[in-house]
Amino acid sequence: MVKPVIAIVGRPNVGKSTIFNRIVGERISIVEDIPGVTRDRIYSSGEWLNHDFNIIDTGGIDIGDEPFLEQIRQQAEVAIDEADVIIFLTNGREGVTAADEEVAKILYKTKKPIILAVNKIDNPEMRDMIYDFYALGFGEPIPISGSHGLGLGDLLDAAAKHFPKGGEAEYDEDVIKFSLIGRPNVGKSSLVNAILREDRVIVSNIAGTTRDAIDSPYTYEGQEYVIIDTAGIRKKGKVYESTEKYSVLRALRAIERSDVVLVVINAEEGIIEQDKKIAGYAHEAGRAVVIVVNKWDAIEKDEKTMKEFEQKIRDHFLFLDYAPIVFLSAKTKKRIHTLLPVINLASENHSMRVETSVLNDIIMDAVAMNPTPTDKGKRLKIYYATQVAVKPPTFVIFVNEPELLHFSYERFLENRIRDAFGFEGTPIKIYARERK
Ligand code: GDP
Ligand code: GDP
Repeated sequence: MVKPVIAIVGRPNVGKSTIFNRIVGERISIVEDIPGVTRDRIYSSGEWLNHDFNIIDTGGIDIGDEPFLEQIRQQAEVAIDEADVIIFLTNGREGVTAADEEVAKILYKTKKPIILAVNKIDNPEMRDMIYDFYALGFGEPIPISGSHGLGLGDLLDAAAKHFPKGGEAEYDEDVIKFSLIGRPNVGKSSLVNAILREDRVIVSNIAGTTRDAIDSPYTYEGQEYVIIDTAGIRKKGKVYESTEKYSVLRALRAIERSDVVLVVINAEEGIIEQDKKIAGYAHEAGRAVVIVVNKWDAIEKDEKTMKEFEQKIRDHFLFLDYAPIVFLSAKTKKRIHTLLPVINLASENHSMRVETSVLNDIIMDAVAMNPTPTDKGKRLKIYYATQVAVKPPTFVIFVNEPELLHFSYERFLENRIRDAFGFEGTPIKIYARERK
């Protein structure tokens, strides 16, 4: 299912990030725990009256050294390119400014629905301040207050009216959708070309997807695949394309549409912080993950090199211990053929369902081997476990008190489940739920 996308645009200080945070709420993310990553989320999911959507804070896209007006123009362009509905945010306390008019000028060019919101209307007496904003030409302005959380329901109602209808899946359930993510120049486009040129690959016409994404559907040995368009592969030559935030945004959107994410690393350069951050996004999204070390032709090797590189990856990506690693070269095509079987395996495991009785045998054996932890004199009791979802496999364990299931014991159970069922390539989720 493809979620609709809302983008917030507007000049600095009108309250874009305040509104964004209000709408998405607080969420703990591993990516933000990685050192060197600031609290700079600009893309997240939200929910309003049974509508799931994604939202972009375009204010967080920093376009290098461009002058102020050019920055906000570019941000409005991103909104036009990426969103289904645009929220044009202004500041009621300051009235219409020249910068608001600049944003409006860019937005006139699109047919996409635009909702004009006037922020910082912190109490009903201030409502009169919205009338100036009719002059921007986007119809009735909606008064809101980000800091007081007022009017956000009306705002989201207005946005939801414009969400695209339908909501059916883009591709059939049994098509394997995968994307390649990684820093610029790791070889993503070369790899896509190498995969598509493999013998017997039949590339079908590009499907008319809702968002004119540049996906590459193909069939190999009877299995249908779609390579999902990714930042850095689609090269349109727009100014904002080369900014880091925009490439993260594109990567997140590709991840979301994928079953399997290939995290591509450049063997020549080794692993850097940004690789970890990118890999973190794939893990958090609950997608199957394969680590691809590209440019394996370009380095000096002996019989230990691969093992050493693998260890380095394991040390850096602790949270991706389930991800298989493939070493290859897009340039020489060496070992390219090893990739698809691994993608197939990861995809299969991502949607694997296990039998409840077998699962419970495994859990009970685990508990017999390593007794459940105690806390303040209370012992965790596990009654029963069941798999509640696939993609990724998700388990609920019914216990006496969920807080007693500490991270380390959960990790132990996860490892037992993995040993028993072999969920290679996919994250699995475990939730504890109380049962009296
Ligand atoms: P952005 O640059 O558009 O992302 O704006 P921010 O979200 O960073 O907000 C700019 C400033 O306006 C901050 O100091 C916020 O606390 C303040 N602000 C945001 N929303 C409101 C509001 O509804 N009322 C008032 N009075 N201040 C607000
Ligand atoms: P992207 O930005 O991740 O899509 O990377 P590209 O596919 O554009 O590749 C970046 C550069 O790396 C190009 O000059 C490629 O020719 C080169 N390259 C890609 N794959 C390989 C490889 O396997 N080995 C070597 N030696 N160079 C490669």
